[in-house]
Amino acid sequence: MRLPPAGRLLLQHQQQQTPPLRPLSKLALNNKKTMPPNPQLPALVEVERLSPGCIRILAGNPGKFTLQGTNTYLVGNGARRLLIDTGEGRPSWIAALTRTLRDERATVDAAVLTHWHHDHTGGVPDLLRAWPGVKVYKKHQPEDEAEGGEQQKLLDIADGQTFRVPGASLTAVHTPGHTADHMVLAWEEEGALFTGDNVLGHGTAVFEDLAAYVASLEKMGRLFFGGKGGRAYPGHGAVVQDGPAKIAEYIRHRAQREEQVVQMLRADKADATLVQGVAAAGEGEGTGDDKNTWTVMELVRSIYRDVPESLHMAAAGGVVQVLQKLLREGKVVEVDDGERWKLVGRSVL
Ligand SMILES: [Zn+2]
Repeated sequence: MRLPPAGRLLLQHQQQQTPPLRPLSKLALNNKKTMPPNPQLPALVEVERLSPGCIRILAGNPGKFTLQGTNTYLVGNGARRLLIDTGEGRPSWIAALTRTLRDERATVDAAVLTHWHHDHTGGVPDLLRAWPGVKVYKKHQPEDEAEGGEQQKLLDIADGQTFRVPGASLTAVHTPGHTADHMVLAWEEEGALFTGDNVLGHGTAVFEDLAAYVASLEKMGRLFFGGKGGRAYPGHGAVVQDGPAKIAEYIRHRAQREEQVVQMLRADKADATLVQGVAAAGEGEGTGDDKNTWTVMELVRSIYRDVPESLHMAAAGGVVQVLQKLLREGKVVEVDDGERWKLVGRSVL
């Protein structure tokens, strides 16, 4: 089956848990609101000071998968700042960054990219055009070498590498899951964590490798320095005030989704209370054991029956990840050349 594009964000539960923050600064930061594509999401202002050492600049790319747009962060309190992510190359972003740096009488010392996705790296050319001396870092991946070009100009990030400017010491930690090259940044002075796209301000995130993702979430939960605050600054969406609690919620959510897949595989598809619409969808050309074998989309339609169908393709990526994890653990088998899945030990009758 065709998988959704890697790294797209899945909005499953758009609950708002974080009250909007008021700017702490007297500075005339830009107050332009970016309207979220989903009215349930809180509006965020284009440039906002979130703490004495952190200003968020939105990338100007709101959408179904990017929430209010990609967050970029200017970190530190001196004349040299660190920039986290660069948006996707919209003119509004480089203009907002330029204005903010002028107001702050500061320059960007280095930019650190959380992962390779275009909505985080697309602003690099604009950044380098405006400030040719900026060092841009991204964790190298073996495939980067093959790709050549732009990726090779970026400086590699070592796991545990620390970036320092006045007011901010950020330690980069390799946390694969959303992507293989994904890095989060632990901020020592504030006891906060820049979570990239592994943890978002609203809903849940998608991932390329479930086992690696859950291991990374567990690692991230331990990266908040000494309980000094514990905020999570996500790649998309509002600030999360209690980062460790949100990460624990993400871990629980993944375990629940895995359990739901197992329960579906255990159920009889004929049970209409469990599987609304699956029979009607006409899948499965009656191979006799259809009752106990499931296609990915049958599982998605059953598990995500309360989620708009437009998000089912994105959800399928997560279900495939669960099935592959269960396959490695010997709990499921593939049938019909991987078209269908069955719980190990289930009768086919
Ligand atoms: Zn993103």
